[in-house]
Amino acid sequence: MSLAKEITRIVKGKIKFNEPLSKHTSLRIGGPADYWVEPKDLEDLRVILEFALDRHLPWKVLGEGTNILARDRGFRGLIISLRGDCFQKLEFNEEKVAAGAGVLLSKLTSEAGERGLGGLEFAVGIPGTVGGGVVTNAGAQSVSVGDVTSSVKVLNPSRGISLLKKEDLKFDYGETVPFGYRTCNLGKDEVVLEAEMEFKKEDKDEIANLMKEHSRKRKETQPLREASAGCIFKNPSHVSAGELIDKAGLKGRRVGDAQVSTKHANFIINRGGAKAEEVFSLMETVREEVLRKMGIRLEPEIEIIG
Ligand SMILES: Cc1cc2nc3c(=O)[nH]c(=O)nc-3n(C[C@H](O)[C@H](O)[C@H](O)COP(=O)(O)OP(=O)(O)OC[C@H]3O[C@@H](n4cnc5c(N)ncnc54)[C@H](O)[C@@H]3O)c2cc1C
Repeated sequence: MSLAKEITRIVKGKIKFNEPLSKHTSLRIGGPADYWVEPKDLEDLRVILEFALDRHLPWKVLGEGTNILARDRGFRGLIISLRGDCFQKLEFNEEKVAAGAGVLLSKLTSEAGERGLGGLEFAVGIPGTVGGGVVTNAGAQSVSVGDVTSSVKVLNPSRGISLLKKEDLKFDYGETVPFGYRTCNLGKDEVVLEAEMEFKKEDKDEIANLMKEHSRKRKETQPLREASAGCIFKNPSHVSAGELIDKAGLKGRRVGDAQVSTKHANFIINRGGAKAEEVFSLMETVREEVLRKMGIRLEPEIEIIG
């Protein structure tokens, strides 16, 4: 029996074959994934992960694809998306919340704000899911998801479910290269199922005002109407990558439909039909020019898959 037939037989949730990753990344770039699965429930997720392990089938969980550059050739293997209802849990209990991995960070942020729970205001405007936010320790204004996370429930295909408490979790905020940069110490084969976060009771209006202010700043400084993956390069110590790229005179530089944003130099935007190869080529130009003119080597922040 072909792998496709076997997957169809064992999975209860949605399955797609040769699914273009350009439909699932905020850069709108990426060739097809052989198999795309949206597990119906936890058991479905467990079954497909065990299958992938057994068949040595490469797999990857994708959140909203907002920190991803997917190659033009696509992904040879299985992409798992936790969009199903089972991963959308959002349960508030006094100053805590248990949030499913598939919940949008924006939804969690606004619901916490409406309840007068402060702590996540920084996340306004950070796209993506709770799962992606934990894995990338998403943050802004020197605060990040790790600061409010008290535990994370994960599923490992060979070890089952475990609950990682605050003391087991290590979030890196790394403002500097080569130290860890926006990471969490989860293994590559661990799937985040849910995270518990703790907030502080605060004034609703103050939270709303702070969120408005963060949102205003983002709109002012980031090309939010264009397709992008946020910041492309990590910030080297004590200087922002955007500032270096700007000073190197690279704002607006294009390769095909990939362009260094004229609004924020550390964003590469897709002007419509950009290919991953064009983004790579533009990234290489930026790195070479910044190294030549500023003597600083930039490292990618986005994750490349495929
Ligand atoms: C306009 C824009 C602005 C941005 N601003 C910021 C910002 O201010 N600060 C910031 O930190 N980031 C920012 N980002 C980057 C991005 O939004 C974050 O990194 C976000 O947390 C990624 O979440 P995601 O769900 O899209 O994850 P994805 O991009 O889909 O995946 C990221 C990683 O997480 C893994 N992953 C996702 N879900 C799970 C899961 N359930 N279990 C295990 N692994 C999982 C993936 O395998 C991948 O390795 C921005 C991006 C854009 C497009």
